[in-house]
Amino acid sequence: MHELPVTQGILSVVLEAAEQAGGYPVRRIDLVIGTLSSIVDDSVQFYFDALSAGTLAQGAQLSFRRVPATLTCWACGYQAQVIAPLPDCCAACGSPHILIQDGMEFYVEAIEVKEPNDARSDCEINSHQQ
Ligand SMILES: [Zn+2]
Repeated sequence: MHELPVTQGILSVVLEAAEQAGGYPVRRIDLVIGTLSSIVDDSVQFYFDALSAGTLAQGAQLSFRRVPATLTCWACGYQAQVIAPLPDCCAACGSPHILIQDGMEFYVEAIEVKEPNDARSDCEINSHQQ
């Protein structure tokens, strides 16, 4: 159930960005989720719908982009992009001495607000939430 505080964090970031973008309603929110994060898309959407009621972000469409983790082999230097479930040894040499990096990301990549003239306005923001 840890999606609730996470979603609250997203909403506050989005609302702040929407205010800075002119206070227009938010149409779309692009989220980045690492493959190793246990965040469940449907839970985030569920909480978001409840929390955003009556705000600029009400009715916004959430878009989720899953990003892979990086595997590095200590034995042979092999590197690869991997997604869950993770391998427990190197695909190149079979060594179990591997390092998994990244894959735990969770942040708002961009929001799109709906302006009165319906012109598209993409607002890049940088607000990493772990
Ligand atoms: Zn290897």
